[in-house]
Amino acid sequence: MSKPVVQCPTCTTEVVFAPESRFRPFCSERCKLIDLGDWAAENHRIPDKSPVAPELGEAYLAELEAELMGQDNEFFRN
Ligand SMILES: [Zn+2]
Repeated sequence: MSKPVVQCPTCTTEVVFAPESRFRPFCSERCKLIDLGDWAAENHRIPDKSPVAPELGEAYLAELEAELMGQDNEFFRN
């Protein structure tokens, strides 16, 4: 009996859908976190004032802020 294989939603790597694939349907914890992050970004637009992970640099934050500002402006125009 062959095991079902699914594609990792993040990177489309084939993942055996079995208990040994700990992060199924994702190929890895990293892909799982990326997907959850995307989901959070898409569905929770409420400004998050929680502490920022230290690995996120100032440039990234500025970019993120600019993006959020742009979305707010779009929102108010409509
Ligand atoms: Zn993956």
